[in-house]
Amino acid sequence: GINFSNDNELKALAETVNATSGPWTATPLVASGAAKIGQSDVPDNMLARGATVAVTNPADRRQTVGSYVSADAALVDKALANAVAAQPDWDRLPAASRAAILEHAAEQLEARRGEFIALCVREAGKSLPDSIAEIREAADFLRYYATMARRLFGHPEQLPGPTGENNQLFLNGRGVFVCISPWNFPLAIFLGQIAAALAAGNSVIAKPAEQTTLIGYAAVKLLHEAGVPVDVLQYLPGDGAVVGAALTKDPRVAGVAFTGSTETAWAINRALAARNAQIAALIAETGGQNAMIADSSALPEQVVKDVIASAFQSAGQRCSAARVLFVQEDVADKVIGMLAGAMAELKVGDPGQLSTDVGPVIDEDALKILNDHAARMDKEAKKIAEAKLDPAATSHGTFFAPRAYEIPALDVLTREVFGPVLHVIRWNGNALPKVIEQINRTGYGLTLGVHSRIDDTVEYIRGHARVGNCYVNRNQIGAVVGVQPFGGESLSGTGPKAGGPHYLLRFATERTLTINT
Ligand code: GLU
Repeated sequence: GINFSNDNELKALAETVNATSGPWTATPLVASGAAKIGQSDVPDNMLARGATVAVTNPADRRQTVGSYVSADAALVDKALANAVAAQPDWDRLPAASRAAILEHAAEQLEARRGEFIALCVREAGKSLPDSIAEIREAADFLRYYATMARRLFGHPEQLPGPTGENNQLFLNGRGVFVCISPWNFPLAIFLGQIAAALAAGNSVIAKPAEQTTLIGYAAVKLLHEAGVPVDVLQYLPGDGAVVGAALTKDPRVAGVAFTGSTETAWAINRALAARNAQIAALIAETGGQNAMIADSSALPEQVVKDVIASAFQSAGQRCSAARVLFVQEDVADKVIGMLAGAMAELKVGDPGQLSTDVGPVIDEDALKILNDHAARMDKEAKKIAEAKLDPAATSHGTFFAPRAYEIPALDVLTREVFGPVLHVIRWNGNALPKVIEQINRTGYGLTLGVHSRIDDTVEYIRGHARVGNCYVNRNQIGAVVGVQPFGGESLSGTGPKAGGPHYLLRFATERTLTINT
């Protein structure tokens, strides 16, 4: 791994990244149709006949990072036919063989991390520390699901029965899984979904976010080189309205793993239901309206440090990010003053520089939503702080200065705003139940941060807050695979925990075999 406390190692890495500028290219990866397990088939790129789309650097829109060819409807159809045909053989492989391929891919990913880090910085605008963490999390997912596949899928479970009857429970892949992934974790979530679906014995069609097709392409190539047959894992970059819609309305799809907005999850759910075909599994991980609650027993320095990381790291473009800080009245002035001081120190700029704290937001659409929200808050709320933007470093990219506003109550916010904007609400010491009620009433249930040294407060929150991931006396981002299984409930998702011990089961179907001996 990379040693963050070793300056020389980090500097060398930054140099490699800054010397790697592409151009990268991506095309759909769809099998020619003749592949068999154990044979090497090359994907037939000649099939790719969609539009060619230029990819630009979010930190400097004048720079072209590369281009991708998008898939068209005919290619979607061919990929699905291949995936249906390929799945049974893949499912019949011993789980240990599938696991070994994923582990091999993790090794290769680490061996080639310089190139992947450069891609994350240039295509997704992720800071160097975020990009390094991204590679590590992706490798963790590959290894974790490999381990879980061996444990859960390695042998059938022997069940009781009367004398003369042998009962066994098997786990199998469900069929063709479509993985639709977000641009904010273009490698970790992308590979995590794919690895889980493959480990469980499904064939996979991967549809990356439009904004991060180059990273997705490199990741799929990596899995092919590690031994996943090209008809078992195919890659279809393109417009959600074309490729995503064609996939989710097709009766051949057995399941969809999706991470993105709540609105898109609803649309996918409707499309799957309207097929009147196999009742598909939907694994959705969506948005949040995440709060951090600080009371007067908390250490103000710690609260400020953790809320800054939770709200502004990754330019606030994490679904786990803190959007609202509830701070107890007695310490509010002090915490707000320190928060404004800390925000004045944030360095916004080129994500390839080690000194940068906050990189660009992903694209013009994201920037517009943030600017509109800020314009509304400027009128309706009290501004606490706005970080500085250095025009020399930011004027050609989609940069947004981190901001904090004081608002009277949570229902001022009607939707998740996906970027570096923090809202602060004062609460009085007796009103903890009302705070939790406000948070639950949003309907989201992803992350919650708590800063308190009072055991009863922590216990009350644990018992009453409907959230998937609760963090006490630390920041609330950066869930670690196998350590903090990640995922929310209600408007935040269908519940499966990525990087948790039960995740693979959601990609599987259970079959029993009863033999009368
Ligand atoms: N797992 C990430 C975290 O804990 C967030 C994933 C997301 O933004 O979708 O910060």
